[in-house]
Amino acid sequence: NPASGSPMARRADIPGIAAVIAVASGKGGVGKSTTALNLALGLRDLDLRVGLLDADIYGPSIPRLTGIREKPHLNDEKKMVPIGRFGLAIMSVGFLVEEESAMIWRGPMVTSAIKQMLRDVAWGELDVLVVDMPPGTGDAQLTLAQTVPLKGAVIVSTPQDLSLIDARRGLAMFRKVDVPVLGIVENMSFFQCPHCGTRSDIFGHGGARQEAERLGVPFLGEIPLHMSIRETSDSGHPVVESEPDGPHAAIYRAIAGRIR
Ligand code: ADP
Repeated sequence: NPASGSPMARRADIPGIAAVIAVASGKGGVGKSTTALNLALGLRDLDLRVGLLDADIYGPSIPRLTGIREKPHLNDEKKMVPIGRFGLAIMSVGFLVEEESAMIWRGPMVTSAIKQMLRDVAWGELDVLVVDMPPGTGDAQLTLAQTVPLKGAVIVSTPQDLSLIDARRGLAMFRKVDVPVLGIVENMSFFQCPHCGTRSDIFGHGGARQEAERLGVPFLGEIPLHMSIRETSDSGHPVVESEPDGPHAAIYRAIAGRIR
């Protein structure tokens, strides 16, 4: 009986959404949300209909990264209507509460909040929904990976050892619940000087590529640590949108092409 207790059995598809891709990281601050948003825009540029769900209920940063201030309203069916921005359908728990109000939630609450944001939101027809996962590999993330019908997961890591170890944990977690790992993105891979363009391997670049090879998962690409990525993110104008012809947009689009 395929419906008996297996993790897959609980992952009911969401009507109208063809594929759900999770963007995860072992710890916070590695640029997971920045990557999720720019990848969503990269997928949009491949002519896909794309939604973005900010499921990082511990510190939702999509409101800041998109500059969205308004609150979603309810439609006739009492479903929340995602906010349209940059051609994406966007939903974040941060639209409903203040970003500063830290949410100390337990695993089951996290899961039910995220289930609600998946199913009680009028997503419409989407080719892909990108989910910005909460950082870490604890119970909340595990349950989430089991609950959401994921096509696969992208793991974001910096080259530093610690976050590589965390990326390994993330990998193990997704394998445990039979979610394919689409690959590892190395963020803040190397420093590129905004003035002279010189490249410096501050964190010992290349670790994620070697790690991906060792673990037998695809290496999706490296994103430099660059002033314009930080400035565009933090001002609500993500780099793929504000510098569409620049080198960073091209990198995100190439990664999008590898996971589509
Ligand atoms: P996380 O979601 O992993 O906590 P964020 O996406 O919020 O991380 O990024 C953390 C900070 O790092 C933000 O200020 C963001 O603008 C910055 N950042 C992320 N990626 C890069 C990058 N490649 N280059 C420069 N700054 C970056």
